Amino acid sequence: MKRNVWPDKGAFKNHVLGWAIRLGVRVRSLTVRPMTRKWASCSTSGTLSFNSELLEIDRKVADYVIVHELLHFSVPNHGKLWKSLMRAYLGNYEKAEEWLRDHGARQAHAASPPSALSPRKTSR
Ligand SMILES: [Zn+2]
Repeated sequence: MKRNVWPDKGAFKNHVLGWAIRLGVRVRSLTVRPMTRKWASCSTSGTLSFNSELLEIDRKVADYVIVHELLHFSVPNHGKLWKSLMRAYLGNYEKAEEWLRDHGARQAHAASPPSALSPRKTSR
């Protein structure tokens, strides 16, 4: 995959917020920091954290992680609806999933189930 690195954290955050607007998600707080075992996490309070390593990987893979997390604000699982939304926004997202698997990240986010998330948006 071709590398396409963001110049800095600010540019990456702007990109995330652009996706949030597109997906109709209200992000209360957005953090980019080093994380050891996962690419991203989201909390019930609307806090999103992304691994700063995402700035160094392919944009398509980073987009996968971003959209994956943002969709959990309205879809708290990886079911049929989540999959069809992933497909609608990212196309062939399985390629990014494969890349992440090959690079040691089995999960996009924390092992704790995102089902505790309170949906901020119901129109989808
Ligand atoms: Zn997930």
